[in-house]
Amino acid sequence: MGIATVNPTNGELIQSFDPLTEAEIEQKLARAQVAFEQYRRSPFAQRSQWMNQAAEILDARKEEFGKLMTLEMGKTLKSAIAEVEKCALVCRYYAEHAEQFLADVPAQTDASNSFVRYQPLGAVLAVMPWNFPFWQVFRFAAPALMAGNVGLLKHASNVPQCALAIEQIFQQAGFPAGVFQTLLIGAEKVAALMSDDRIKAATLTGSEPAGASLAAASGKEIKKVVLELGGSDPFVVLPSANLEAAVSTAVTARMLNNGQSCIAAKRFIVVGEIADEFETRLVEKYKALQVGDPMLPDTDIGPLATPAILKDLVHQVQAGISQGARVLVGGQLLEGAGNYYPPTILTDIPLDSEIAQEEFFGPVAMLFRVPDIESAIHLANNIPFGLGASAWTNDAAERERLINELEAGAVFINGLVKSDPRLPFGGIKRSGFGRELGIQGIHEFVNIKTVWIK
Ligand code: NAP
Repeated sequence: MGIATVNPTNGELIQSFDPLTEAEIEQKLARAQVAFEQYRRSPFAQRSQWMNQAAEILDARKEEFGKLMTLEMGKTLKSAIAEVEKCALVCRYYAEHAEQFLADVPAQTDASNSFVRYQPLGAVLAVMPWNFPFWQVFRFAAPALMAGNVGLLKHASNVPQCALAIEQIFQQAGFPAGVFQTLLIGAEKVAALMSDDRIKAATLTGSEPAGASLAAASGKEIKKVVLELGGSDPFVVLPSANLEAAVSTAVTARMLNNGQSCIAAKRFIVVGEIADEFETRLVEKYKALQVGDPMLPDTDIGPLATPAILKDLVHQVQAGISQGARVLVGGQLLEGAGNYYPPTILTDIPLDSEIAQEEFFGPVAMLFRVPDIESAIHLANNIPFGLGASAWTNDAAERERLINELEAGAVFINGLVKSDPRLPFGGIKRSGFGRELGIQGIHEFVNIKTVWIK
């Protein structure tokens, strides 16, 4: 399909874009380099002013940007508008805190004065996915630009208009030309970009194969990289939990973004005697979900972003059934146009089956029953991923154990896993490495320079 906007509700091609030529890519790299030499010297107060202006633009035009996201990738309009608001929040957060996060850190040594100074690296390439087309970019760009770096965005090929809109926001906010640029290019151009001296580091949010490919390219060039990859987050419910709160949150946590979120709860692991009741209530709530036009306010679940994602999901569910899983609700492709898939729950999944180890990127949940906390933790960790984990209990000892033993970059007790500018975000195992957000996020793309003075 190339680089294009295709309406996921009906497959209509709305606009296609020519990828940049080699000469145009060269021009943008040169502009980034020139921009960095000036921009790195700009005071924090100036950067903050531009970043706050970006937040103003986001707030003022949230409906317009929300509609663009919904049009290009099918998330519900209400969630798209909320995403724009969250982008404004992350801009303001780093506008306010970057200077303090990057202030010199004194150290007592044998020097008369020694300290750590944080300095920007240069141009950072951001390879981003379509699922949160604004948020993924802003959570990279707000800290990276506040630290004095310049950004180059290679966005997913199905959200080009979002990519161009984001570039325009930074320009209109007042950032100098070249500080943030969008590159309309295919994935095959990324490895070559990594070997360009002007690109100092990269970040990728996306699938494991894409992450592995970027990691290989950056490994060859010895460049810093942050990887935010897939997940199959567990959602563990213990008998001491508030069951109704757990079930309601389970639905939200799985259905976020039409089921296409890296930190969606994907495996419900329910302990002991509450499992029957959990299942009954979960099925009931799934049946009540409205699948339909994402622009409409009552819609809970819109279409998947592309026909390829739908095809993969259909294949995975079929494979799961043939491996022994039982469908509690959904599981049948919906009639009509568009990439729609119904809310689906699979259970009785053999623990040694392939699907038990996979990520479902759509509104499909896996429900497991286990006898005790020991087996819940074992099952939760028995997966190649380690992004987030949600666990439900009202027992202090159980809570401590879950926090300590769940293998994940984040553990949320009695709540759904979410990103928050004030907290670091990222994974372990095959979910990637490095952190975004919080103070840790702004420290990823800086030279942590040791200074020693006698
Ligand atoms: P994807 O195919 O990996 O695409 C993500 C980005 O990587 C796109 O810009 C894509 O460009 C590019 N890309 C693809 N193959 C590449 C390669 N070999 N080298 C360099 N760049 C490449 O990901 P997706 O399937 O759209 O997104 C879903 C995955 O992302 C899921 O696994 C999800 O869990 C994960 N995700 C993780 C996080 C997190 O924070 N950990 C957040 C969101 C999503 P093209 O579009 O041009 O192919």
